Amino acid sequence: MTRDLRRLTAEQVSSLILPTEPWLSCEDCFRLMDQYVEALLHGQGEVDVPRMEVHLRGCAACAEEAESLLELVAQEDGVDPGPAMARLQG
Ligand SMILES: [Zn+2]
Repeated sequence: MTRDLRRLTAEQVSSLILPTEPWLSCEDCFRLMDQYVEALLHGQGEVDVPRMEVHLRGCAACAEEAESLLELVAQEDGVDPGPAMARLQG
């Protein structure tokens, strides 16, 4: 007798195993946050912005941290945080 295991669709399985799926730990996210905020404010930097955005969308703690850092850096640099903030908040 076979057990009726919970089944995943092929799509769900591939989303779990896809090696190209951007993934970042909170630790990596915090490490890259300075660069990410700089990239958002000034449109430059080495940081992998899409990867950060995927993480920030799914992680409220990092998103909150990024928002306050963005405000701080914008103030320090004397730039308008508006467009960068809009992008950050997706
Ligand atoms: Zn996080």
